[in-house]
Amino acid sequence: VTDLHVGVDVGGTKVLAGEVSAEGRVLRTARRRTPGRLADPRELDDAVTEAVEEIAGGRTVASVGLSVAGLVDLTRGRVRFSTHLPWQEDHTAARLSERWGVPVLLDNDVSCAAVAELAYGRGLTHSDFLLVTIGTGIGGAIIHQGRLWRGANGMAGEFGHIRVVPDGRQCECGLRGCLEEYASGNALRRLAGDSYEDGEAVTAAAAAGDPRAAGAIAAVGDWFGIGLAGLVGSFDPAALVIGGGVVDAGELLLGPTRAALERSLVGSGHRDLPPVLVAACGPAAGMVGAAHIARTGG
Ligand SMILES: [Zn+2]
Repeated sequence: VTDLHVGVDVGGTKVLAGEVSAEGRVLRTARRRTPGRLADPRELDDAVTEAVEEIAGGRTVASVGLSVAGLVDLTRGRVRFSTHLPWQEDHTAARLSERWGVPVLLDNDVSCAAVAELAYGRGLTHSDFLLVTIGTGIGGAIIHQGRLWRGANGMAGEFGHIRVVPDGRQCECGLRGCLEEYASGNALRRLAGDSYEDGEAVTAAAAAGDPRAAGAIAAVGDWFGIGLAGLVGSFDPAALVIGGGVVDAGELLLGPTRAALERSLVGSGHRDLPPVLVAACGPAAGMVGAAHIARTGG
């Protein structure tokens, strides 16, 4: 019996496949470019297939887990909607399982990251926490008593679209004043201005003492803390676990975040604030979680 369980993060820009050990260690990775949303879905099938075959290197694969950036129907292994992928109302798991001759499981990317964090990261020491990812936008997952709490329709955790400013900035989701319009990588780029190539460049400049870059990160951190205060008031978690690319800014972000959380939380001064922790699983969390789902059967 083979023990090769492959996790694949099918993201908006790249497909990242990996072999992950039972202890959550990434043993090897392979990547391909993600074809755009308007491409033929089969092109994305091919990219994922190539990445999985590169990981296998001729060995027999036991199962494959897919971490998908989009709304998914877990029970039918279907991708309902994705902003960036050609898979739309697509029976992905069944089709790829037939093509490869192995079981294929899929889940959305934030749920996969939460599964990884539960199995190998902060879940080892905390059983009630919120995972909040701050990247291009904001993603969220609720961990209750050591399990991912999905909500009645599997759509819990959309923390990025809590309204923080009435009649505020127009969000891509169609609403106005959503948290991720003020606290995200996109917001950081807007606040920092055009002289930085991307979010990483803003972070690097801030770390080197650039006051404008540091000010933009602090402003994002402040909004992020205001958003987290609403979540702590609602869920009373034992910890806030923060993932996503923007968290690379470290204390430049999280210092203002903690200050705003303390300032904005109901009953502050009369209650313990949950620690704000950086996620342990890092940028490969989606892929690691997908491999874990494949290994354990979801
Ligand atoms: Zn929104």
